[in-house]
Amino acid sequence: MSRVVMAGMPAWGHVNPSLPIMRELTRRGVEVTYYTGEEFRAPVERAGCEFRAYPPGTISVAGIAEATQSGSTLRVVTRVLRATESLLPFLRDELAGDPPAAIAFDSNAIWGRMAAASLGVPMISLMTTFLVGGKDLSCLTAREWACFLGPTIRDLPRTVAAKQRVVRRFGKRIYPPSPTLPMRGDVTIFPIPRWLQGDDPRIDASCHYVGPTFPEGGDSAPDAELAAFLDEPGPLVLVSLGTLHAGSGAFFHACFEALGDLPARVLIATGGVDPAGLGRPPAGTLVRASVPQREVLRHASAFVTHGGMNSALEGLARGVPLVVVPQQAEQLIIGRKVAGRGAGTVLRHAMSRRPVPAGELRTAVERALTDPSLRVAAKEAGASLGEGGGAVAAAEAIQNRLGA
Ligand code: UDP
Repeated sequence: MSRVVMAGMPAWGHVNPSLPIMRELTRRGVEVTYYTGEEFRAPVERAGCEFRAYPPGTISVAGIAEATQSGSTLRVVTRVLRATESLLPFLRDELAGDPPAAIAFDSNAIWGRMAAASLGVPMISLMTTFLVGGKDLSCLTAREWACFLGPTIRDLPRTVAAKQRVVRRFGKRIYPPSPTLPMRGDVTIFPIPRWLQGDDPRIDASCHYVGPTFPEGGDSAPDAELAAFLDEPGPLVLVSLGTLHAGSGAFFHACFEALGDLPARVLIATGGVDPAGLGRPPAGTLVRASVPQREVLRHASAFVTHGGMNSALEGLARGVPLVVVPQQAEQLIIGRKVAGRGAGTVLRHAMSRRPVPAGELRTAVERALTDPSLRVAAKEAGASLGEGGGAVAAAEAIQNRLGA
């Protein structure tokens, strides 16, 4: 039986799409050892993998969230490079006696790709997004560029120093080619529909756009209070900015103001913001730190989302129109592609650190609730998501590489 090692990133948006692929591999008789943060043990084991935790203090959900919220893309890169200094030796020690047939790695987990390069085994990259090209970024306004580049440039010296340390210590030969992130492999799996990826000369036969890899069956079941709320009659609006961008109290208060007296129930998942700190929500609004999102989306008529790849695709898969409030460039691009298909609206104020006006939010949500063309377009987009073959196609591409 061949064995594949998966070097994951401890973040829900990265672990979630990888699990159905790993489950499919195990179903085909491949043994999978999955390395990530301890908080992911249960879902990883449910996917049929052997779970191994990264040592404490190396990389964590909280660390990635903090770096993401800094607004600097390089802060995340620096964190990953620092983690590589301990996780690469850790992985090499773990695998030295019994090298796997291949190493799969999250496209941001530099230590995973470097471990594969140093052991000389096939490299399988699991992307969580598309390849961003210069053309994609041409939609940024001058003010958005300034907000994007300011914190990023400030981090540049630290990132360069972190990269130099890794290259000096482990050698240039096994360091990934530039640009470092996201990294590709001998096989690269994109769990997104092909239409979300613009034309790009870097795409070749090693890239597999398999579409989203949602797990079979439902999400975890809602608790009694949430289940009762979901069962109430009338439309439901879900608001969530994902698991890494905390959003701010101000945004959720704008939701209270904009959506509080709509003829709809509103469910807000605040992520990193403490619901208790928001004060009393309007009647008909329920606030939670997190919700079983895929399950909730079954009941939703509109989804106010940051446009994270998983959230956007989960909403479309349920035929729910999106109101995308992007927090970073990739989410703006996703929002624009969804809006281009007529399945959503983009409110891009946060891209230039401006508050989302309550009036604009209300208009966008009202449109999502009442304009049937948005729902039709969301359903059409949702129907296209299975075309790439999902986890089965991904596992097939990986097995073909193992057999090659
Ligand atoms: N999620 C969830 N409950 C929540 C918020 C998020 O289950 O309250 C899940 C969501 O279904 C998705 C993932 O967490 O699978 C978030 O991934 P995404 O790429 O949308 O955003 P990120 O959190 O990585 O920014």
